[in-house]
Amino acid sequence: MTIREIITIPDPRLKQVSTPVETVDDDLRALMDDMVETMYAAPGIGLAAIQVGVAKRVIVMDLALEGDTPEPLYLVNPVIVPTSEEHAFYQEGCLSIPEVYEEVERSAECRISYLDYNGDEQVLDCTGLLATCAQHEMDHLEGILFIDHLSRLKRSMAIKKVAKLKRAAENA
Ligand code: ZN
Repeated sequence: MTIREIITIPDPRLKQVSTPVETVDDDLRALMDDMVETMYAAPGIGLAAIQVGVAKRVIVMDLALEGDTPEPLYLVNPVIVPTSEEHAFYQEGCLSIPEVYEEVERSAECRISYLDYNGDEQVLDCTGLLATCAQHEMDHLEGILFIDHLSRLKRSMAIKKVAKLKRAAENA
């Protein structure tokens, strides 16, 4: 397993729509293993393949608390439907938008259909943080970032903040 580089805004690949996976094979499993490793190292609770520069419809998530046994979820070709009229607000962050945290409104509950690590069909009902995380990661597959849900002012502040961080890192 390899920790891959996570791309950050304004990398244009983050705006790309990812393409469906044709078969869940060993190559894809190797990618998913790397993604989980990369997510744990970051650390983060979710990662979409495009965040490591691969435009495939693959997501990994793990909401297990630190110190608990890891519970990685591998979602291939996920399809998501809201299952509640209710909305929830969570403060979100994104490994591709370092050090920016803002509240986003999303469906409080959702159901995801997907293929798992072995290519078997699965259905997962999500509530709470898992529902938010799943919708955030699904957005990545469509080239949408959580800052796209914010006001124009907040979005441009976020973009400037990341640009400033990058400049500081380059000059360090
Ligand atoms: Zn993200």
